[in-house]
Amino acid sequence: MELGCSDCGIPASDEALFCAACGGLLAFEPGAGVIGAAALRALLRERRASNEHRDRSGVWRYRELLPALDPERIVTLRENDVPLYGGRGGAAYAGLDDVAYLHLGMNPTGSFKDAGMTVALTHAAQTGARVAICASTGNTAASMAAYAARAGIQAVVLVPSTGISESKVAQTLDYGAAVLGIPGDFDAALATVRELDPRRVAIVNSVNPYRIEGQKTAAFVLLEQRAWRVPDWLVLPGGNLGNTSAFGKGFREALALGLIDRLPRIAVVQAAGAAPFARLFAAGGDMIPVKAQTTATAIKIGAPASWKKALREVRAANGTVIAVDDAAIADARAVIGRDGIGCEPASAASLAGVKALVADGVIRASDDVVLVLTGHVLKDTAYAAAYHAAPSAFANTIVHTRDRADLLARIDELATARAGA
Ligand SMILES: *Cc1c(COP(=O)(O)O)cnc(C)c1O
Ligand SMILES: [Zn+2]
Repeated sequence: MELGCSDCGIPASDEALFCAACGGLLAFEPGAGVIGAAALRALLRERRASNEHRDRSGVWRYRELLPALDPERIVTLRENDVPLYGGRGGAAYAGLDDVAYLHLGMNPTGSFKDAGMTVALTHAAQTGARVAICASTGNTAASMAAYAARAGIQAVVLVPSTGISESKVAQTLDYGAAVLGIPGDFDAALATVRELDPRRVAIVNSVNPYRIEGQKTAAFVLLEQRAWRVPDWLVLPGGNLGNTSAFGKGFREALALGLIDRLPRIAVVQAAGAAPFARLFAAGGDMIPVKAQTTATAIKIGAPASWKKALREVRAANGTVIAVDDAAIADARAVIGRDGIGCEPASAASLAGVKALVADGVIRASDDVVLVLTGHVLKDTAYAAAYHAAPSAFANTIVHTRDRADLLARIDELATARAGA
């Protein structure tokens, strides 16, 4: 695999984080013919029957398709070993015959960031890094902190002092990271991190190409669970857009390897108050940063670092980009919950987005649609509690019973209602 500039194409050194010529983001280009499709499928089947972490990890199982790192010294928590769920309620809500959720929130720290962090921290550890640093709206921090702890590396996190989920901060503190709150937002934190010297501290935001290599395996995990049947659409939330670029890359590589025969279309969904990518997709031109505003904090990003990479992937996949408002995200999250599937608000932008795309006639009811759930419900329980405390469309509240008779009467009422249903 060759590391080069994703904008101007010139080869890059492993020491730098940005292109020396144009400042663009770096990316790995796969070498030709590493392994044939039939041999790879057989190898993957074998590994799924193994008890070794690196075989069961939904990242390292694909190690032939990752940058060259010593497979005996990987930093893993068995990430990306995640389910694909059906969801009838969500399908009906969006106007689809059927829908499936790839739940990346079922990762070790509760978000898809783990798939990238296992590779970024393995690389950091193997190059002798002592300190890893990131800017975060919460999930990147928690993930980096866990993998840094496993690697014996000091984690340093820059987070906005206000407006990020308390559960995510608590989790990050638990894993022993140094958490530095800043008065600005995520975009300000990332701008600071980008100025640091990558030879002194390992920078593990999604501008780090090792992160993208790890995250691209989510495309393989999805396809493998579908016996390499390609869906019509993959729908995911977009913030900094690293994950959009990773999924696109994963699907393109699967196509080049002969594992699949076409690309799925990709729909990226942004929150209306943080939608510079949706705007530029519709209007053309360059990305114009915005002051991000949304209660879906994981996608509260006004200047997405990976917008160029993501734009190339969305175009290659004949995809689209839309924005949905916070109220639509909130209701969609509750609907997903009614199917017994818990996700955080940013994740639910996917279902809200599909509903809008079905209404617009872009996605048809009979299309084969996979929604990416990026984070777990327990990542932001305060959000869920607030939703149910408000007069929301799918609000549900605790019923305080007066006494034993009242309690039994209510149970009887519920049993009777269900018996008649
Ligand atoms: C990081 C994150 C996103 C946004 O992903 P990008 O790669 O920044 O576009 C969406 N949802 C959750 C839960 C996340 O943690
Ligand atoms: Zn360049």
